[in-house]
Amino acid sequence: MTKTLAVVVAHPDDDTFGCSGTVALHADDPGFRFVLIHVTSGEAGRIADPSLATPETLGAVREEEDRASWIALGRTPDRHEFFRYPDHRVEDHPFDELVERIAMVLQAERPDAVITFGPDGITGHPDHIATGKAATEAFHRVRERSPGEGFSRLLHQAIPRSMLDEWNRRLVAAGKDPMDPTQLYQPRGVPDEEVGVLIDCTPVVDRKLAALEEHRTQAGDMEDMQEEERRMALAAESHVIAWPERAPGAAVVADVFEGL
Ligand SMILES: [Zn+2]
Repeated sequence: MTKTLAVVVAHPDDDTFGCSGTVALHADDPGFRFVLIHVTSGEAGRIADPSLATPETLGAVREEEDRASWIALGRTPDRHEFFRYPDHRVEDHPFDELVERIAMVLQAERPDAVITFGPDGITGHPDHIATGKAATEAFHRVRERSPGEGFSRLLHQAIPRSMLDEWNRRLVAAGKDPMDPTQLYQPRGVPDEEVGVLIDCTPVVDRKLAALEEHRTQAGDMEDMQEEERRMALAAESHVIAWPERAPGAAVVADVFEGL
């Protein structure tokens, strides 16, 4: 039986952090289909090493880095779309047009589960928030206008607050500044009881690290972290179940498709 996962993110590397472990865990599952949408190509991002890209080429370079990251992980998307909206300006673009572009892909693929950003955008990044809002709207639009297969679960990526607290304890213990969730581009946490899906990616964390290394223009993103902390941060992928409504206190599931 086929199970399709669609992931809608803003930038090349959002996918590596947020869902590559889940994909690696399903890599050998013959019924697994993986659809990936990038709303932007990240062309306004950092260039860690000027020999890798210029501001003019960064978007194309980051698309290639993303493709390479999935090859390094060992499972490439079955369908991979780059919408090439302007990086850092997704929210300035007509919202309805973005919703419809995402909806067209979702309608064709009828995924069982969709992962995107929630209202915190993980780091408060406006592109993440706008992308999550559009993908959430697209999910419901297609689900309501053409009922049928798929659309069983909408997930919003989220970091359990206890995990963020643990990272901060470790950073402070190492004499570093803790992350501050009130600042833009710093990770936010959600109350642990709101997390409905918690995936243990420990068995595939090496593959996730290999995938992350391919984002060479973004090297240094996790440089504040020790190796052990970096592995810890990558070893869990967690989500709030945005739809259907989850009963308070319901059991946390260990896979995006569990129970579907
Ligand atoms: Zn991003």
